[in-house]
Amino acid sequence: MPAEPTYVIVGASMAGAKAAETLREEGFGGSIVLLGEELERPYERPPLSKGYLLGKDEKSSIYVHGESWYAGNDVDLRLGVTATSLDVGSRQVGLADGGTLGYDRLLLATGAVPRRLSVPGSDLQGVVYLRRVGDSERLAEALRGGGQVVIVGAGWIGLEVAAAAREAGCAVTVVEPEAGALYRHVGPELGGMFADLHREHGVVFRFGESVTELRGSGGRVTSASTSAGVELEADLVVVGIGVLPATRLAADAGLDVANGVIADAGLRTSAHEVFAAGDVANAFHPFYGKHVRVEHWANALNGGPAAARSMLGQGVSYDAVPYFFSDQYDLGMETAGLPEPGSYDQIVYRGDREAREFIAFWLSGGAVVAGMNVNVWDVSDDIQALIRSRRPVEEAPLSDPDTPIADL
Ligand SMILES: Cc1cc2nc3c(=O)[nH]c(=O)nc-3n(C[C@H](O)[C@H](O)[C@H](O)COP(=O)(O)OP(=O)(O)OC[C@H]3O[C@@H](n4cnc5c(N)ncnc54)[C@H](O)[C@@H]3O)c2cc1C
Repeated sequence: MPAEPTYVIVGASMAGAKAAETLREEGFGGSIVLLGEELERPYERPPLSKGYLLGKDEKSSIYVHGESWYAGNDVDLRLGVTATSLDVGSRQVGLADGGTLGYDRLLLATGAVPRRLSVPGSDLQGVVYLRRVGDSERLAEALRGGGQVVIVGAGWIGLEVAAAAREAGCAVTVVEPEAGALYRHVGPELGGMFADLHREHGVVFRFGESVTELRGSGGRVTSASTSAGVELEADLVVVGIGVLPATRLAADAGLDVANGVIADAGLRTSAHEVFAAGDVANAFHPFYGKHVRVEHWANALNGGPAAARSMLGQGVSYDAVPYFFSDQYDLGMETAGLPEPGSYDQIVYRGDREAREFIAFWLSGGAVVAGMNVNVWDVSDDIQALIRSRRPVEEAPLSDPDTPIADL
């Protein structure tokens, strides 16, 4: 009898843990080894800039699975173990401790790492990033001290940290080189709404400026200078300038890498037995007809299982409409689709924009390409179906809250 195959998953976070779960659910009887360089078992990152950062969520609520789940499902979870090399010829993974591990199929779920700020002074104490649970815990502690917080970058992380810092009583200035908040994510119109929300809560924005230097005293940051020649006092500098896909293992192994690990619609990479999912994967998206890399929780939640099915030889065409959510102050929102500037020519609103209870639809050529529901719930599935339909819609029913989205 042939030996049972070994499937190795590199990266013990959302995509990796969900892939392991799906392998077992689909009846895979071989070995599953889940390698994670962090010491925590797989956890979800969104609470790190929201409820967990604010001290509202218990730590127990952030984990993907209960502690006993891994042993109970015969998943060999190895924490504190970094995969340092990959040999796709001999199907071996090299480990930081010098050991090696053979695999029959391998999933790269290595995620992403924060882009570093590289200006003079960026290595001072008090210059922090937010990716891991320990980062969130240290940031929560720092925010409790109050004081002046400078946030570099008005993206999702920057804005969510701004909200948490304001709730903790800190003075907050956000420095952003683009013309507005969330500019590349949702365009100027909806980005402007988020900036207004933050201004109402006392956040100061410096758009069109970048941080050029950090100064300190005794090794600790005390101020941030901007390209406008302004020096901002800073007890803490939080850098949220995006992430880079963790591709080193794949690139060194000779896999196709370009803005992530290139994969097909079945999440298979250029090496036949190697798959990729989550933040690290730049996979061909059948709906968009191009490669798309999505840095969102739902893409790890759904992409990990899709890769697992593909590893099992099931025909997979992973074409989920990108989905993202955020909570800031008392505003909760979900966004479906890719509403980057240039991808739309019209925005239609339904609901009460003043009260921030509305849906924004981004359209291109009369069809909805993306939608954001703000403090309106249970509509995202219908919005995603509308996007997927590509059908042209009339403005009047689209803006009418009494017309069900499913009927458009
Ligand atoms: C603070 C924060 C808030 C967020 N909020 C939201 C939100 O509100 N909504 C949303 O949609 N998305 C949000 N995201 C994004 C979301 O968390 C990510 O899209 C998601 O974590 C991606 O999951 P992943 O499993 O692909 O990768 P990751 O979560 O990055 O995990 C990859 C794991 O692989 C490990 N690893 C990497 N290389 C190796 C190696 N060589 N050997 C062993 N292990 C390795 C890493 O240490 C890491 O644990 C947020 C992210 C952060 C950081």
